[in-house]
Amino acid sequence: MEQTISSKLPDLGTTIFTVMSQLATETGAINLSQGFPSFNPPAALIERINWHLHHGANQYAPMPGAPNLREVIAEKTRRLQGRELDIDAEITVCTGATEGLFSAITALVRRGDEVIVLDPAYDSYEPAIDLAGGITRHVPLLLDDNGHDFHPDWQRLKESINDKTRLIILNFPHNPTGAILSAGDLDNLASLVRDTNCYLLSDEVYEHIVFDGEPHRSLLSHDELWERSMVICSFGKTFHATGWKLGYCAAPARLSAEFRKVHQFTTFSVSTPMQHGVADFLESDPSFYEDLPAFYQQKRDHFCALLGESRFRLRPARSTFFQILDYGEISDEVDEQLAKRWTREIGVASIPLTVFCETPFTGTRLRFCFAKDDATLEQAAERLCKL
Ligand code: PMP
Ligand code: GLN
Repeated sequence: MEQTISSKLPDLGTTIFTVMSQLATETGAINLSQGFPSFNPPAALIERINWHLHHGANQYAPMPGAPNLREVIAEKTRRLQGRELDIDAEITVCTGATEGLFSAITALVRRGDEVIVLDPAYDSYEPAIDLAGGITRHVPLLLDDNGHDFHPDWQRLKESINDKTRLIILNFPHNPTGAILSAGDLDNLASLVRDTNCYLLSDEVYEHIVFDGEPHRSLLSHDELWERSMVICSFGKTFHATGWKLGYCAAPARLSAEFRKVHQFTTFSVSTPMQHGVADFLESDPSFYEDLPAFYQQKRDHFCALLGESRFRLRPARSTFFQILDYGEISDEVDEQLAKRWTREIGVASIPLTVFCETPFTGTRLRFCFAKDDATLEQAAERLCKL
């Protein structure tokens, strides 16, 4: 008789990013769902990786990461966030942010611990919390009166913290809403956690894609928050290379030590030629990421302008490479159902927001990725304008 599996994640299906990308492929739709650029990483970076592939960098890298890569990460953090990181004790290179998040959650969350996430919350957090035996508490972001801007609800967050709260997971610049933290937000957060035992896990993979002249306010920049934080970054977004799966965790030594206990057995170490290639490239061109806001802002503006004649309501994204479109004047269908129907019928795939929420408070909103060449954006917008 076939043995039935008692699943550790009985209610979990396949991630929406796979579902929507697969549907786009099957139907031949323009895929603005899963977030990935339609253009390549810089040629000079590919050349450096190729060079290392041909020059012997093909065996295990050190478990915490290649020292030369940790060195350029430390330099970048010093320059942009004013924080001095000890490369031996405070930086760990990991297999994309996904591994970093999983290792951090596994390292920190114990059975019965509560973890607060802010909805809409990226879909990898809760399964990792579940596997660690933790309990996820969802705190929705607040919508402004204009119905476009999302921001943290500090009052509700404060009310959700109790003796069991072990971890708060933050994600600013925020996927999918593009929300960013204001100058006062970091201080608000500091005052909420000051007399608690909570740790903070900050998913900052869109750190270099913030628009309209706003800075990225990292938890790394705040002395008090830094003491209790693990900050996760990814080179996937920064170098138009989401398939490379290269990221890192920056955390104070005592937290990094716990992170490494898990990382060493989740993956041990990360692709050696990739690490050396990225280290060389960042050393020779440390300002590459400084051009990213202008590059993506131009794409955002182009996409939004193309949709000017459409019936969607929008506010240009503040960060990331995702634009939220409110379809309330076109349809009242549930977002996930509509995203699938429009993929089949209109030929444009998007991501529904309610799948990232405990309660469907995001209503009639879909996320569209604008990290695409202009022709693709124009073709997609033409289809969307017909709705
Ligand atoms: N966090 C967020 C908010 C993301 O959008 C993504 C994916 N783009 C990740 C984590 C995972 O990043 P990576 O591809 O480096 O694993
Ligand atoms: N982070 C990407 C997005 O938001 C998807 C990553 C994935 O497919 N796992 O679209």
